[in-house]
Amino acid sequence: LTDAAKIGCVVYAAKSTEDRRGSIPDQLRECRAAIEYDATRERVGEYFDESFSAYSGDRGPGLAEAMRQVEELAAAGPVAELWTQHSDRLARGDGRSARHVVEIALWALKRGVVVRTLQDPDTFRDLLYAVVVGQRNHEDSRRRSLSVSAGHRRAVERGEHRGYCPDGYKFVLHLDGRAAVVKRLAIDEDREPVIRMIFRLALRGKQPGQITTALNKAGHLTPWIRGKPPVPWRVAQVCGVLRNPRYAGMATHKGEVLARGQWPAYITEAEHRRIIGRIGSNKPTKYPRVLEPYLLTNLGRCGHCGSPLYAMTGHERIDGTLLRRYVCASHARNYDPGRCSVRPISAGTIEGMFVASIATLLLDSAERPIHDDAATAGWTHSLERDAVLRAVQTGDDTQINAALHHLLASMSPDATVARQLAISHRAARQLAATRRLEIWAKTEQTGRTDSTRQETLALNRLLRSWFESVSVTVSDVHVDILAKRQPALGQPGSSEARITISLQDWARAAAPDGRAYRPWHTWRRAEILGALQGWADMHGRSPRYAEWRLPGGYHPSALTVRNTFGSWAKALLLAGLAPTFPRIVLRNRPWTNEDILLALRIWIDSNGRIPTTREWKHATHEHPAAETIRCRFGSWNKAIATARAT
Ligand SMILES: [Zn+2]
Repeated sequence: LTDAAKIGCVVYAAKSTEDRRGSIPDQLRECRAAIEYDATRERVGEYFDESFSAYSGDRGPGLAEAMRQVEELAAAGPVAELWTQHSDRLARGDGRSARHVVEIALWALKRGVVVRTLQDPDTFRDLLYAVVVGQRNHEDSRRRSLSVSAGHRRAVERGEHRGYCPDGYKFVLHLDGRAAVVKRLAIDEDREPVIRMIFRLALRGKQPGQITTALNKAGHLTPWIRGKPPVPWRVAQVCGVLRNPRYAGMATHKGEVLARGQWPAYITEAEHRRIIGRIGSNKPTKYPRVLEPYLLTNLGRCGHCGSPLYAMTGHERIDGTLLRRYVCASHARNYDPGRCSVRPISAGTIEGMFVASIATLLLDSAERPIHDDAATAGWTHSLERDAVLRAVQTGDDTQINAALHHLLASMSPDATVARQLAISHRAARQLAATRRLEIWAKTEQTGRTDSTRQETLALNRLLRSWFESVSVTVSDVHVDILAKRQPALGQPGSSEARITISLQDWARAAAPDGRAYRPWHTWRRAEILGALQGWADMHGRSPRYAEWRLPGGYHPSALTVRNTFGSWAKALLLAGLAPTFPRIVLRNRPWTNEDILLALRIWIDSNGRIPTTREWKHATHEHPAAETIRCRFGSWNKAIATARAT
């Protein structure tokens, strides 16, 4: 296109009050960018008005000039355009004291000018649009919020603080050079000790959980948040303080550090980086983990305190499976003395127990009329009834429906019969699903695949249609499951069913070879002594305390041994074994990288899984501390990957 054939564009920007925040350059820049993006357009003029209202007047000389130039362009060529950020830059009056938008639209129509606005492109499409005040108001509020955000950014670039007041600070008002009131952050003496304590502990290497516990033990509470009174601290809130760069005096806008803030800092920027380096920023991880489905999602409740049970997926084990656990919400989230003391429970065990007792939890005597002679005595249509019973036994939904349809057709519709029918239909479906659950539980034991994950989700939906909640209470000797059923047809309220499973019986049934991990097994004295002797027979020497630090499949933890017999040496003595002496650990043994990888491989081979950093927290003769490995290889996972690759 030659320059003559291009559409001529005149740009106009305006601001009502003195343009202190530099908004006119922004408007002009936006319009320029839009015009330059289109090869058929050409910018021929730029005008702006400052401190001329469009609400109480008709803007200033800038708009008059812009309109004159675009009129001339339109008279000369086929089309000319007036560009502006928003229609209210041109007019926002009511037609009496100031120009109405529709007046601009009429002017444009008469003179052959096209008005283009970036933020409300529909306004000048036809006259009706220009008239609709509601539309204009809506667009106006949107534009205002957009320019407020841009104003915030400019303020942050100047080192001012925008947004809510962080805990440990307060707003103080003062006048700036142009006699305008400015809000500034200052240290809040009342909250200062709390924030200082958080950072002091963090810089000493304490984890957020430990800091939270310490805060709550010291009686510190959170600040007032949006009218809500102070409560004990939670880990997420402590992490929020630790990750907030404003405490290091960094002015940020939408997560981006723009300038050095003009307020007193609690920590230095280097200290902030150190803390982030340890606890990590909460940016999404590069490789989001697949969410493991749980059978009792949105159903499970803690039997002790009534809080919901959270599903928590832990670290990956060597066989590729993930550690799945249920944990009481109060235990997981609260770090105050009043938190629920129930520890996380293995999801596999609880789900297995639930499926094993599903028949009892679902179908009680009131809901089993199909097997109950008294309830089915009124049924005279024995042929059809037998067909229903047969269909129920096959567990096929379509067969059951067909049989029920025949039965219904052959008898008079009677209220009680209809109810019985509904109940028996429900029972039949539930019986079929019980079988489905049992099959699912069996395949779960052999490992998860994508199809069993899908099945878990489907079964969870099914269970939620039957149960309101499933409370799980774990004690030393048994697990108590209390299932609350959804109200059934013809029943006014929900009903309950309870089942208690002995942990010893369960462990025996689940692990017949006695080698599987038995989480709640109560070790008797004779059993412990037998385990000690068995270990000594196998290894040719007495076990050391450190070697039994964690429980094995067939032996308890060293702590259990010590708690039962008073001391490790006493237990060995009673088992007829030679006492062991604490081994001297050479603290500064120089671990080469090869030695570390060898130690990792030996440990993985003999234990059949990856060690946790917690297990390797302290150095022993056999391996260095996890922190050493982390420093040497960059991260724990990198070291594990290297050890497994070689
Ligand atoms: Zn609880």
